[in-house]
Amino acid sequence: MNFLNSKLFTHSSAQGGGVEIPLEFETPGYSKEERDLLALSVESISHSFSDGSKVLQDFSISLRAGEIVSLIGPSGCGKTTTLRLIAGLERLQKGSITVGGVLAGTADWHMPAERRDVGMMFQDYALFPHLSVLDNVLFGLGDLSKPIRQERARELLDKVGMSELALRKPSTLSGGQQQRVALARALAPYPRLLLLDEPFSDLDTELRRKIRADAIKIIKSLGVGALLVTHDPEDALIMSDKIAVMRGGRVEQIGSPMTLYQKPVSTYVARLFSETNEIPGVVKGGRVETALGNVSADGLSEGQQVVVMVRPEHLLSGKMAELAGGAVEGQVSLLKQLGREVLAEVKLSGGLEIILRTGAENAPEEGTSILIALDPGRSNIYVN
Ligand code: ATP
Repeated sequence: MNFLNSKLFTHSSAQGGGVEIPLEFETPGYSKEERDLLALSVESISHSFSDGSKVLQDFSISLRAGEIVSLIGPSGCGKTTTLRLIAGLERLQKGSITVGGVLAGTADWHMPAERRDVGMMFQDYALFPHLSVLDNVLFGLGDLSKPIRQERARELLDKVGMSELALRKPSTLSGGQQQRVALARALAPYPRLLLLDEPFSDLDTELRRKIRADAIKIIKSLGVGALLVTHDPEDALIMSDKIAVMRGGRVEQIGSPMTLYQKPVSTYVARLFSETNEIPGVVKGGRVETALGNVSADGLSEGQQVVVMVRPEHLLSGKMAELAGGAVEGQVSLLKQLGREVLAEVKLSGGLEIILRTGAENAPEEGTSILIALDPGRSNIYVN
């Protein structure tokens, strides 16, 4: 962060701690127009807890207005810590955080959480039990005049489909309804940034789908940037414009859901989104040779040991495998019906076991043999 050309801070709602802080500052890599559109910019933050454990290391991410970005990764990789730092619930040790173009935190400057232009929505809803639905939403609109507060709260309750239950207490609502109120409350102040921490994990599948779809529409219609923390790859794939996969306190890969699913940079990223077949291979004469046929070895050196990753639904089987050439025979050892699709465990003649997912209309029979081949366009190669 370069503060040399910064103008001094003048915005009264964001002052804190008697420290002069810059309002206008240079954000490397962004023009002024781009910066104005940034709902969030996190630059090279690192964080350790008092026991010395390093949770985040040189972590960066940015979000534009109206963009939904998911943070996904295994338990303990630092997702919640990242949200807490952005929200201002934890002090920043290294790097910088800006929300809506306004500096919110550095190692020397901490804007208090309530002054950050951030709405928050968590798994446990955190609604006030003694307040009505309407009063819960009004709560976050403290500084505005009464008519404006009422109008905003009603508008948001309307958007989430909860107007008719405005006078109910949270305890009389279903989990899904409470989650809708929590979304209305988080968005009523029109924040530049919405932080969502596992917001849908307590909901059943059908309700989850409905609330996810509604949440996307509302977030997009308000043009708020949203950062979603989730364990659930389906949440991330369906909701996000971009997904950031965290590993060891850093971003391992960030990109569109399609890119992360089809072109993961590592087997770690690949495994987060669905089952994988990871087939050992070795480079010989410009090709990767595996027990399931060969694929091109562009850019790899002769003799290199690699892993060819292919998702179960990206394998060719039956007639398609025969047409592709180089097919290998295997025995279907187990078949699971998944409705429109089937999942087959197949043991190849050389002993390698793989998983195949295919349409129910092409389902092989358990105990029979089947031809399988790699689809070169849908096979990813990783160096060990
Ligand atoms: P989960 O998905 O299980 O919620 P997460 O990715 O959100 O995990 P964090 O809650 O950010 O992970 O925690 C990251 C690491 O930091 C964990 O090892 C956790 O034990 C540790 N940690 C979190 N808060 C503290 C704290 N206040 N003091 C010490 N260690 C902490």
